[in-house]
Amino acid sequence: MKNSLYQKKRNFSKTDEPTGSQRARPEGWPIYVVQKHDATNLHYDMRLQIGDVLKSWAIPKGPSTDPREKRLAIETEDHPLDYADYEGVIPDGEYGAGTVLVWDKGTYENRSTLDGRQLSAEDAFTKGEIIVNLHGYKLQGEYALIKTNSNQGQWLLVKKRDSHADARRNPVSTEQKSVISGRTLKGVKKEEKND
Ligand code: MN
Repeated sequence: MKNSLYQKKRNFSKTDEPTGSQRARPEGWPIYVVQKHDATNLHYDMRLQIGDVLKSWAIPKGPSTDPREKRLAIETEDHPLDYADYEGVIPDGEYGAGTVLVWDKGTYENRSTLDGRQLSAEDAFTKGEIIVNLHGYKLQGEYALIKTNSNQGQWLLVKKRDSHADARRNPVSTEQKSVISGRTLKGVKKEEKND
């Protein structure tokens, strides 16, 4: 991702986020990740591997398992694939300053279609309507990401009605820990300070 927007926004002598210079090696099923990010405003960054980057959306309220909930998802810059494992504290004054943890992670299957035909994830992204079947720890089953007409960069994330839809679950509030380290935001912050 040479000279990408991702790199231009960051000073890698100050932040310990991945530099995006590592060669991407896409193999197996594409990556799905949601990172909880305690920045100026707490939000959840959902990322889907499309090609050799992570397409990214910031979701202020986080994902829901309730099909009646439509969650605003604001498109953000592509991130490098190795960002999917990033946890840490982005220093004050840097872009996205605040604590990051891996709230959910796994793989996904692209289920996007157009006129009954399978559509590649790339084409679905361009079209502004992506259907994915998630295989995460906290989120499973089909979700739709749909670009709204009202504003550029604004999408909606909606759970599809399937066996994983559950209006009683609210994983954003009841399942707050990292799926890769078991840490809370507080725990990540504390450990990074002690490094
Ligand atoms: Mn973020």
